[in-house]
Amino acid sequence: MKIDQMIQRLEKEDRQIVLLEQTAALLQWDEETGMPPAGHASRVKQISLIDSLVHERRTDPEFLGLLNELAHHDLSGLTEAQRALVRLHTDRGTKSSKVPADLVARTSEAAGNAQNKWVTARKEEDFASFAPALKEVLECKKLYCQAVGYQEHPYDVLLDDYEPQMLSSEVDTQFSLLSKALVGLLDRIRGKEQPDDSFLYKEYAKEDQDAFGRMVLEDMGFDFERGVMEEAVHPFTTVVGADDVRITTRYSEPSVASALYSTIHEGGHALYELGACNDVTRGSSLSEGVSLSVHESQSRLWENIIGRSEAFWDHYYPKFSSLYPSQLEGVSKRGFVRGLNKVSPSFIRVNADEVTYSLHVILRYELEKLLVTDSLTVDELPDAWRELSGKLLGIIPERLSDGVLQDVHWSAGLVGYFPTYALGNLFGAQFYATMASAIPDLEAAISRGELSVPKRWLEEHIYQHGKIHPATGLLEKVTGDPLDASFFVDYLDAKYSRLYDL
Ligand code: ZN
Repeated sequence: MKIDQMIQRLEKEDRQIVLLEQTAALLQWDEETGMPPAGHASRVKQISLIDSLVHERRTDPEFLGLLNELAHHDLSGLTEAQRALVRLHTDRGTKSSKVPADLVARTSEAAGNAQNKWVTARKEEDFASFAPALKEVLECKKLYCQAVGYQEHPYDVLLDDYEPQMLSSEVDTQFSLLSKALVGLLDRIRGKEQPDDSFLYKEYAKEDQDAFGRMVLEDMGFDFERGVMEEAVHPFTTVVGADDVRITTRYSEPSVASALYSTIHEGGHALYELGACNDVTRGSSLSEGVSLSVHESQSRLWENIIGRSEAFWDHYYPKFSSLYPSQLEGVSKRGFVRGLNKVSPSFIRVNADEVTYSLHVILRYELEKLLVTDSLTVDELPDAWRELSGKLLGIIPERLSDGVLQDVHWSAGLVGYFPTYALGNLFGAQFYATMASAIPDLEAAISRGELSVPKRWLEEHIYQHGKIHPATGLLEKVTGDPLDASFFVDYLDAKYSRLYDL
């Protein structure tokens, strides 16, 4: 077969896989936003049918044969996007073809069982009832690492599922710099007077919060012709079609900041997905964010670096405080921004402030690596959690639901996922530093509410490339540097020195 024909077949197959995945995403969206509770059982069957159709297509011997044939061809005459598509499918196909089908089935059964056990164990504060199910999940993960094979560390196999090509040795280097700097910064903040943030916990009318969030989204460049926002228990972003990107937010948390920052966070993910879909990538697997870390860099850049900045509130505070004159009576703009950025170690990762958040992630990452190499047993895990929490955050949770049982990830088999949250902070600060030196007027533009200025830059340098370049290649192409945690450390240092008069 000629190379042109092979590429055409690959593109056709790829587009069908994308359509199936988007169909599953729509079913999932409906499940989270509108489905009646009793619909759950048939929804599970519908989604798992589509998942198995996708799996069949990906592992079809003819399709794998096509990829194998392409691997032996000279691809230099192809476009950059075509070469990227071949690389994406080849990497994925090579990896999954090494994993025996019975291990795939055993893993999904183990995760299903562990999730059920986790829900009850968390409610009843009973780790022992969850431990055997978690052991089975980890056993599957270790077998997976062996089946795929690795050069340096078994964890690399797991990390690669979420952050392709990243090695744990690289994460170790960045996280050791990061944790030292964060623990130091936290120490300096501890000695200072804490800002008052009690005004965030007053009663704020939901309709106004919703209208304000939508206005910010629109200013960010979220296109309501190509996207919607609804409410759900857990905020998320999903892609239902090339021009149909959906986000959710929630108004149920006690702090008014939490709904707004959920909206901005998911808005950041959505802008990336919307911008990744263009004439070159539309309808293909390339029209997606490149990796979880880069995705999280885009949501957290909008949420924290822009959305929690003083410049942002120069423009928005007059609008926000005029919606809520009684709740914000006597609160200055600076007082408001200080309250929003209050740093205080707490037990729950998802509620953590910007300084302590990455320490929660590093804690989980360190434990995961020990578990995968059998340097720590599941039975020792709760004590190891408490010890490391004391070391990193300076606080030790009493309750298991505030500690080792708080996240769904391990029970769902998502081992290797956590580091991407903190890596997102690192990628985001590095991208932002580059953007700020390219646009000297950036902060002033944000103060004027011109969020289209950062959006245009992100669109040109990050969004539009979709999955065409690997994550680290994209980072170096855009910033000129390899991954370097000191960008994030310097950003936090400058910001919190100002806010806390350090
Ligand atoms: Zn996110």
